[in-house]
Amino acid sequence: MIDLHSHSTMSDGTDAPARVVALAAEAQVAALALTDHDTLDHLPEAHAAADRAGVRLVPGCEISCELGGRAPGSMHLLVFFVDDHTGPLPEKLAELQRGRNERNVQIVSALNAHGIDVTMDELAAEAGPGSVGRPSLARILVRKGYVATIQEAFDRWLAKGAPAYFERPRLTPEESIELTHASGGVCSVAHPLSLGLEGDALDGFIAELAVAGLDGLECEYGAYEPAERAPLHALAARHDLVPTGGSDYHGDNKPGLCVGVGRGDLCVPDEYLDRLEARRR
Ligand code: AMP
Ligand code: FE
Ligand code: FE
Ligand code: ZN
Repeated sequence: MIDLHSHSTMSDGTDAPARVVALAAEAQVAALALTDHDTLDHLPEAHAAADRAGVRLVPGCEISCELGGRAPGSMHLLVFFVDDHTGPLPEKLAELQRGRNERNVQIVSALNAHGIDVTMDELAAEAGPGSVGRPSLARILVRKGYVATIQEAFDRWLAKGAPAYFERPRLTPEESIELTHASGGVCSVAHPLSLGLEGDALDGFIAELAVAGLDGLECEYGAYEPAERAPLHALAARHDLVPTGGSDYHGDNKPGLCVGVGRGDLCVPDEYLDRLEARRR
């Protein structure tokens, strides 16, 4: 059994990279991909922990892509076999992190303009190292009593359309696929139902990505029902994509999901990883 999708404190998970690796070892996961959002900063700690625990670490990340209206939902692309020093992707991700930081400054200024007391230093302290985003701001707003829940922080201030929402630079799916390949990696569309497409529209969009070089489709997703997974396998097969799978473990930020087994029913076969490796060029 393997797990090709998980998060640590380097993005929006609540466990340190070494802890996620240790949980994978406990769950007897043979290979783990730690796929923090838009960063590879988790890799040094994760590699060291994986060596100690005897777990195979697949280096990678999860890129939030710019869809520009091509689908109503969101697109996350899982990247595998790209290390923090291989090819052009790491530097591009560092550039995106700088864009994220500029956006955080905009959000904090907008919140200040609305009378909310929050600083960039507080945000840095709340988020720790790695990718810093809106969930950390939401936690600060809850802690300081400006809102009652994380969801209210998004609804009132941080969500798209709210007063403190700002865009940040993102890569298109095609740019992400090209950079991944140029860095020796392969990529798979994470939780494909988040695209907000179904039927022919979903098929058509995945077909476009397959032409652009997409390698895989996350069919075995921790939070999907069996009835949702089966059509995704058929979709992957139609476009010659390797099925991938993982828990999308986020620690306490997504309660009920465990490393390896997801909600208890996940069992991603090792064979998917062999097929992904065969797609590397
Ligand atoms: P960021 O990386 O700063 O754009 O934040 C993205 C994260 O914020 C997502 O992974 C979600 O966890 C959370 N998020 C985004 N939009 C919403 C929303 N409307 N309601 C609740 N959480 C959200
Ligand atoms: Fe996340
Ligand atoms: Fe995701
Ligand atoms: Zn994820």
